[in-house]
Amino acid sequence: MFRFRDRTTAERIIKKLREMGLNIFLMHVCGTHQDTLVRYGLDCMLEPCGVKIRQGPGCPVCVTTPEEIEEALILARKGKIITTFGDMMKVPGESGSLQSMRGKGHRIQVVYSIRDAVELARRVREDVVFFAIGFETTAPSTAATLLSDPPSNFSILSCHRYIPPAVKALLEMGETRIQGLIEPGHVSTVIGTRPYEEIAERYRIPQVVAGFEPLDLLMGVYMLAQMIRKGEWRVANEYVRSVKPEGNTKALKVMDEVFEPTDVAWRGFPVIPGSGMKLRQRFEEYDARTLFEDELKELRGMEFRTPSGCRCDEILRGIIDPPECPLFGRVCTPQSPVGPCMVSAEGSCSIEYKYGRRKINRESIQMGSGKR
Ligand code: SF4
Repeated sequence: MFRFRDRTTAERIIKKLREMGLNIFLMHVCGTHQDTLVRYGLDCMLEPCGVKIRQGPGCPVCVTTPEEIEEALILARKGKIITTFGDMMKVPGESGSLQSMRGKGHRIQVVYSIRDAVELARRVREDVVFFAIGFETTAPSTAATLLSDPPSNFSILSCHRYIPPAVKALLEMGETRIQGLIEPGHVSTVIGTRPYEEIAERYRIPQVVAGFEPLDLLMGVYMLAQMIRKGEWRVANEYVRSVKPEGNTKALKVMDEVFEPTDVAWRGFPVIPGSGMKLRQRFEEYDARTLFEDELKELRGMEFRTPSGCRCDEILRGIIDPPECPLFGRVCTPQSPVGPCMVSAEGSCSIEYKYGRRKINRESIQMGSGKR
């Protein structure tokens, strides 16, 4: 692992980038990439090289819409047991958060995996709903669970999403002049590099699939910089130790068996065609939206407001950096988050709040000094 954090190699790449005389804007769509970027101070090293990188809609908790959170809250109020990952607990919805609902006595259970939720359903008689979030990384385990005959009181509130349609939406919207994309390593391990080829051709944009160690990211940036300079728009794979062109075919097959693409909104975005994962009709007995359709009618006519001053939408579209939000670090902190980007460990604001202070003393940033 430490060869991926070697300071001398990092300095060599940085020197090469500096010599290229760049002025480029790149985007990635992955909370783990953002963590590496800020935790190791790579953002500070790259900016003097003329490389600016921002996170787009790459945090699954952050892109979950207020409407979807409200669905979970409604079902909790109607007596269902809601199971979810810890990061979702504090995300503010229109009528509170899952954490505040638990404080009021409703049954919300944090689980480490969908398997825990299934186990709970086997032990109780009540309906257990798994609030399923995440991209192509977590969706295969949801799909595999549904194929393994879970108990009849178990269901899924699917908020799973596909990454490539969101990348296309970002490029279509054209709000920022994205010159290159760093594609996510985990997602790409499942989907492979091929889905990005169509994007490269259509939008003439270079892309690199990169891993999560500091040198992975720096190398990915260097590969992109070279393509941008040469005017190329290929898909390159820096993360060859994990990502194959065809991806993980077993995981893709399982996902395809259970889910079909549907049009859904992402926080900060309008409806993105084909970006949501809907349970196929064959699995409707496990689909919380079908099973509890009557209960969820409460959602109709509800209005969802963005908290005053919150700029999570712009963060998720890569338009601003967290400190540009007037609430950052003053009103909005991890202890008292106003928006989801400050709640999730993969959100830009929480990452900036946690590690951004390292920028004060750039010279002391040591490759490999970060905790994992
Ligand atoms: S600082 Fe808080 S309110 Fe502002 S964009 Fe970030 S999460 Fe949203």
